Amino acid sequence: MTQHIALLGAGRMGTALTLSLIERGYKTTVWNRTRARADALARRGAYVAESVVEAAKRADIVLVILNDYETAAALLKAPEAAAALRGKLIVQLTSGTPAQARALAAWARKHDIRYLDGAIMAPPDLIGKPDCLILYAGASGEFAEQRGWLEALAGHTVHAGEDVGLAAALDSALLVNYWGALFGVLYGVAVSQAEQIPLDVYAGHVRALSPVIADGVIDVIERVRSSNFATTPATIETHRAALTHLREICAQHGIDRGILDAFHRVLQSASDRGLAQHDFSALSGIIR
Ligand code: NAP
Repeated sequence: MTQHIALLGAGRMGTALTLSLIERGYKTTVWNRTRARADALARRGAYVAESVVEAAKRADIVLVILNDYETAAALLKAPEAAAALRGKLIVQLTSGTPAQARALAAWARKHDIRYLDGAIMAPPDLIGKPDCLILYAGASGEFAEQRGWLEALAGHTVHAGEDVGLAAALDSALLVNYWGALFGVLYGVAVSQAEQIPLDVYAGHVRALSPVIADGVIDVIERVRSSNFATTPATIETHRAALTHLREICAQHGIDRGILDAFHRVLQSASDRGLAQHDFSALSGIIR
């Protein structure tokens, strides 16, 4: 049987998810607060529901993709909506915290509603593509049962574990790695512009260094796993000194140093605790 999937949310991500399901032949119903966004999907074959309750009544599965958990929880917990969801499955792909996922799953269980939580680790234009990763958490039996249609959304459809908070936890743990690179490159761009380095030249060097940085990141994880902080190709003191150069360049050119000052505080704190000759990964103890 082909599932009928109702999507709550036709924003950027909801639109991409709906189109991916339509393209693969799934029946879809869409509800969105602003009707015009859902109407655009009606022209592609989705049914537009007038309310969350109507959407929940029409479908076997309700996929939630809204701005935040508070909005999602308020809509789902309305008594009429909760009644319409009884016996059905919620797949919650809205970003949130592990605690929010666990709380919503507990509420769902109490109301005889099945629940899977998920985290989309890709932008909307990757939805449905082989490189797209979506993590799920919750009952493994439920995940296995739903896997067929979930694979319409992402080439990598991965069950993170039975604990329903795990997808949200991994979402934040992976996003912070991404932000580290994005914030870092903003400083690189600022220094390049201040020092008259063409940005295409800078981009070429960033690309060439990417594998080295990727290996360095994995090395940090491995060292923390094995508590191997004593041997190192570059000490915390070496990193601290190099960061001093960057902070000086920023000061000379009037570039905001807020994030770099935070890096410096962590490195200095490690030195003050006698870790100056340890590996960078020893900073994990300072951060925790
Ligand atoms: P978006 O384009 O801003 O869409 C937000 C959605 O939430 C819209 O459907 C919007 O309805 C709805 N909404 C906002 N406030 C509401 C309220 N008070 N009541 C009812 N509906 C409300 O955002 P998005 O990019 O689709 O993101 C949706 C989720 O996907 C977020 O949790 C985000 O973290 C996650 N995500 C996004 C990306 C990405 O690259 N975009 C990647 C991974 C995960 P209206 O149309 O009426 O405003």
